[in-house]
Amino acid sequence: LFYMDGLPVAVMGLGKSGLATAEALARSGADVWVWDDKEASREAAAAKGYKVVDLMTADLSELTTIVWSPGIPHSFPKPHPVAERARAAGIELVCDIELLARAERDSAYLGITGTNGKSTTTTLVGHVMEAAGRRIAVGGNLGTPVLTFPSLGGGGTYVLEMSSYQLELTVSITYDVAVLLNITPDHLDRHGGMDGYVAAKKLIFHRQTKPRTAVIGVDDAHCRKIHEELVAKGDQIVWPISAEGAVAGGIYAADGWLVDDTEGNAERVAELSKFPALLGKHNWQNAAAAYAACKAAGVPAPAIVAAMTTFPGLAHRQQLVRTIDGVRFVNDSKATNADATEKALATFDPIYWILGGQAKETGLDGLEGLMGRVRHAFLIGEASDRFAAWLEANKVPYTRCGTLDVAVNVAAELALAERLPNACVLLSPACASWDQFANFEKRGEAFAAAVNRLEGDAA
Ligand code: ADP
Repeated sequence: LFYMDGLPVAVMGLGKSGLATAEALARSGADVWVWDDKEASREAAAAKGYKVVDLMTADLSELTTIVWSPGIPHSFPKPHPVAERARAAGIELVCDIELLARAERDSAYLGITGTNGKSTTTTLVGHVMEAAGRRIAVGGNLGTPVLTFPSLGGGGTYVLEMSSYQLELTVSITYDVAVLLNITPDHLDRHGGMDGYVAAKKLIFHRQTKPRTAVIGVDDAHCRKIHEELVAKGDQIVWPISAEGAVAGGIYAADGWLVDDTEGNAERVAELSKFPALLGKHNWQNAAAAYAACKAAGVPAPAIVAAMTTFPGLAHRQQLVRTIDGVRFVNDSKATNADATEKALATFDPIYWILGGQAKETGLDGLEGLMGRVRHAFLIGEASDRFAAWLEANKVPYTRCGTLDVAVNVAAELALAERLPNACVLLSPACASWDQFANFEKRGEAFAAAVNRLEGDAA
């Protein structure tokens, strides 16, 4: 970050990536000012020796850049006073990924965005590129802060999961390969509405020219429109992807196969069942996108397919923990609301469903149509009374188990006694974990531990 030498630079928001940013800037010789709206965060930073400067009141005339934590609203639903002061003074707001891009100009950039599936696709792309022996670093909206990345230099590729907030705070990156998976309404409060959200997502294709490649899902109306716009402009190579069937010139899932039509020969490259960690239609979209992205990045198709078969999946997201006597035990602890749980319920049948915890306002609403797949439900945590009433109304048999350990044992006993074909014991709680666990990761780990304590062949 040589260009920051001697200049004051402010860091707004002192979470993990904010602190990593402050450290990287300090190492580069910048005069680092830090600020956070929370007093506790300021105190922690001060204790680490950082110079806390109140950006609400300080003289900003020397400042050119504020490195803004993407999680802090700056424009919507209402302008942040620091952001307003910065704009009035002509100070740029950027995020840490912008600093990475300015420092690492020789490397390639592969960016992935979308409303859903970002982490899965990014991790899968990382897995494939690594298996192919490519020099990469994987991060952004997931994992370690980007300013802790090694310098990859020419020939290296930064594989970045980009949220809409991060896209708004980066201007220097032109992605060699840019992926937009899907767009459904989300975070609208932060973007001042759907138009703002779509506009932010579109930034992933900013300034792309051939042979740079845009990979874009065409299974939702917003993305289809963007796809049409890109094709009409003709600036970059555009590969459409779909989980819903054939798309000319694209990569798609159809009849149980992943098909590559980018060369116009609709080549069946792999059976989707060969990818054990990519269950369900939504994951076929991720698989198609990752395949497309890796192909665009120059990885040969057979190497991509081979690596995809060994992808272990993301922890806590429909993750297969173990199979006992044909019964799969799946950890979907990340599903903290009904929307996420819906995806898992749509993947398996029949399901022994472990759910509960701290319910969201909308509870289980929207899941009614999937209850035919649920063989039996096992309730844990605070939401038990409310969920029991809902399950009764939907005629789903259930057992109150109280704790996750009990639920795993009771569910396993029933599932292993019945041994129905394709049976799945699924933790997909549709709830936050905080009533019984520190976070969803701990809940998922507890599930896996309980499953691994069950008797049965290791498999
Ligand atoms: P993100 O990083 O965008 O939040 P993840 O890859 O972590 O997405 O997946 C989170 C959840 O979203 C998954 O557990 C699954 O239920 C759902 N999901 C994953 N991929 C998709 C997709 N392509 N389309 C719709 N939903 C998806």
